[in-house]
Amino acid sequence: MHTPYGQECPYFYGDYYRGRSHEECRLIGNRPERKQWTSELCKTCPVPEITLANACENMKLHARIQSLPFGLFKRMKIDAFCTLSGKAVAEPRIGCGQCHQLPQIFKE
Ligand code: SF4
Repeated sequence: MHTPYGQECPYFYGDYYRGRSHEECRLIGNRPERKQWTSELCKTCPVPEITLANACENMKLHARIQSLPFGLFKRMKIDAFCTLSGKAVAEPRIGCGQCHQLPQIFKE
């Protein structure tokens, strides 16, 4: 679904039917942080860009809301984890490379 800022995000849900105005981030899910979430966080969230660049099914994203100094700003902090290698993915847009390794012939 598209966020209010126009990016496609698989975790955004908005219900505007008949005057409703319910929005939620399903990546945060039912964790207590969800009370702090507003769709304004979608504006700077990297998830739409990550999911567009990397559709790896083995990579799982984890989101938390990060407050910046003095509580003036909040933003989404995204961590990625590969269930195949069992390791954190440093650059989620690219992936860890475990499932798309080059054949040996190209490595020499
Ligand atoms: S905060 Fe990020 S992950 Fe959550 S709905 Fe918005 S764009 Fe998607």
